[in-house]
Amino acid sequence: MNILSVEYLSVHIHYPDKNIYLLRDISFTLKRGETLAIIGESGCGKSTLCKMIVGLLPPHFQTGGTLNFFKNDNTVIKITNREDPRFKNLRGSNISMVFQDAPGSINPLFKCGKQIVDVLKEHASDSSSQNKQQAIQLIEQVGLSDAEAVFNKYPHQLSGGMSQRIALALALASHPRILMADEPTSSLDSIAKKQYLDLLQELKKKNNLSLILVTHDLNEALGFSDSMLVIYNGHGIEYRNTTDIQRAPAHPYTNALLDIQTALNQNRLPRPIPGATPSITQSIPGCPYHPRCQRASDLCRNTFPLPTALSESHFVCCHRPLETN
Ligand code: SF4
Repeated sequence: MNILSVEYLSVHIHYPDKNIYLLRDISFTLKRGETLAIIGESGCGKSTLCKMIVGLLPPHFQTGGTLNFFKNDNTVIKITNREDPRFKNLRGSNISMVFQDAPGSINPLFKCGKQIVDVLKEHASDSSSQNKQQAIQLIEQVGLSDAEAVFNKYPHQLSGGMSQRIALALALASHPRILMADEPTSSLDSIAKKQYLDLLQELKKKNNLSLILVTHDLNEALGFSDSMLVIYNGHGIEYRNTTDIQRAPAHPYTNALLDIQTALNQNRLPRPIPGATPSITQSIPGCPYHPRCQRASDLCRNTFPLPTALSESHFVCCHRPLETN
C-alpha cells in the first residue's frame, strides 16, 4: 500500500527574461515500510526535492505537481498548492526531515532536551514530566549514552556525530509516518556512517516508518533501499526497485554510475563518464544527458524524452533505453 505518491513535481525560479528550472516532472511512489533512495550527484536537485515535499522552499520558488499523502484508512490528501493549510498540518505528524546540515538545524540557544520536549508538546497533550521522560527515551533510542546528561546539554557541547543523532531525535519526536533523511551521513567517516545507517534501519522497524534516503553514495543506496529514483540535472530519469535497477538498468546514466561503483568495489580504475555534470541552471536542449551519452541520436539532441513506463513500477526517461530483460 502506498503512503506517498508524487506526480510531476516541478520547481522553477521566475526571472523577467526566463524561468530557471531546478526540478522537472519528478514522479515516484513510496510504499508503507519501504525505503526509497533518491540518488544523484551534488547539485542535481535532491535537496530542493526534499524541501518541496516537506513544504520548506522559499516563497519565490514556483512549484507544480501533486503530492498524494495516503492516510491509514487509505484515503488520500491531495496537495496541489503549497499554500493549502492541510500541507502545513501534514508536516511533522506525517512527514519529517533530517537535514543535510544536521548540527546547523538544531537551535544553538536552547538545550537539546528542551528542543525535543517542545516538539513532543506540539504533537501530543501529555504533561511536561512525561514529555521529559519521552525525550530521554528518544535520546536513548538514537543511540546516545547518558541520555539524561545529553538532555541538559547545549548543541555546542555535542560532537558532530552526537548532533546528527539529536537531529534524528527531533525528527522522530513528532511521530512521523515518513522520515526523509537528506545526505545524513555525508559528514561521517565510514564506521560512523555504517552505524548511523544501521540505526536508521532499526528505528524504521521500531517506529513503523517509511523512509526516503537522499544520497550521492550509490553503494549506500544499493545496500539500504528497496527502490531507487535516479536524478540527473533536475530530472527523475529512472525509477525502479533496487534489485532490478542494479541487475538491469535501463538509462545509460544509471548504467554508467553502476559501472563506476562496480569498478570501485573491485579496486579497479573506473571508466569516467565523459564530459562534466551540467549546472542545474544550464538549459540543455533535448535529453539533458545527451552531451555525455554514447547512445545519443538526433532525436536525443532535439527532443526531451518523456517518462516512459517499461513496466508497472519501472519508469525511464530515455529514447533508447538499454535492454532490461
Ligand atoms: S535519450 Fe538519448 S541521449 Fe538521453 S540517455 Fe537516452 S540514449 Fe542517451
